Amino acid sequence: MASATLTIDLDAIAANWRALDRLSGPDTQTAAVVKADAYGLGAARISRALAQAGARRFFVALAEEGAVVRQALGPGPQICVLSGHIAGDTEMIGDLDLTPMLNSIDQVTRHLEALPGHPFGVQIDTGMNRLGMKAVEWQAVAPFLLEAGPELLMSHLACADEDGHPMNAAQLAAFHALTDGTGVPRSFSATGGIMLGPDYHFDLTRPGVGLYGGQPFDGAARVVTLSLPVVQVHELEPGETVGYSATWTAEAPARTATVVGGYADGLHRTLSNTAVLWHGDIPCPLVGRVSMDFVTVDISHLDETPQTLDILGPNQTIDDLAGSAGTIGYEMLTGLSQRYVRRYSGSGA
Ligand SMILES: *Cc1c(COP(=O)(O)O)cnc(C)c1O
Repeated sequence: MASATLTIDLDAIAANWRALDRLSGPDTQTAAVVKADAYGLGAARISRALAQAGARRFFVALAEEGAVVRQALGPGPQICVLSGHIAGDTEMIGDLDLTPMLNSIDQVTRHLEALPGHPFGVQIDTGMNRLGMKAVEWQAVAPFLLEAGPELLMSHLACADEDGHPMNAAQLAAFHALTDGTGVPRSFSATGGIMLGPDYHFDLTRPGVGLYGGQPFDGAARVVTLSLPVVQVHELEPGETVGYSATWTAEAPARTATVVGGYADGLHRTLSNTAVLWHGDIPCPLVGRVSMDFVTVDISHLDETPQTLDILGPNQTIDDLAGSAGTIGYEMLTGLSQRYVRRYSGSGA
């Protein structure tokens, strides 16, 4: 076993979707966000498992990602494209029945001219200043756009992971002011917004990271296990050092294991001399610098030489590891290497 194995529990993903669907409430539909290859875990397999669990609407960032999901799911489920209708995407949007969330008057014009009668939604900016029409733009085109029959009006929260942040209430008020009385289904919340409670749910929620076991969904079932194979063991004399720049020194006789996986695989260099790997329930500190393809682990205290060490598993979540690296679970997940062999477990596998 030369490469590291990333095990993805499809049952846990389905359970997380059902749990988020329950939290979204009985009058709210729950979509699934599978952008960035389902946060690095494999959009085709995961979209199929989520469709089996009951998801009928999927969100991707780019039309190309929508093509992968359409291929996996076949006709039927709605696939929404958050970047909207970008020049050059018309054929893909039309042929694969993707639903762009139009973000600007330019996109509205492009869409209605190129694909008249083709479904679309509208993204309205309520304060994040990333995607979506400004209030004045929306107000200018709303009478005519509402006539064309959008499938969905949506907006996105900037601070949903912080309950009580004043931006949340301000964006909520803006969304109401701009969309009340339109009669069009509305979507406002990703994982964080679902946690903020029913006022934020509207007709459709759009969880992503919570499906994959990440914060801010506290109740998430664990989805990923990442086991790194041990390729070599070293016996060190006191005073010997490990790795680039010799940043760790053995203070007593030590045994270290070199394992496959480095910063080219999404194990951030900031984990150097900081992260912990696990042999079952026994923690083993990462020593020295993370290099491109390998990390070194102190296993002096183990009675045996393990074949693999876990860096994600029951004792260390994606958010724990992200915390050690000084980043967020989202970045850790989406950075997981394409070199890892992805294994799927669960009934959807
Ligand atoms: C990424 C994204 C989501 C999903 O967000 P999570 O925090 O992962 O649940 C929903 N909506 C939009 C517009 C997004 O960009």
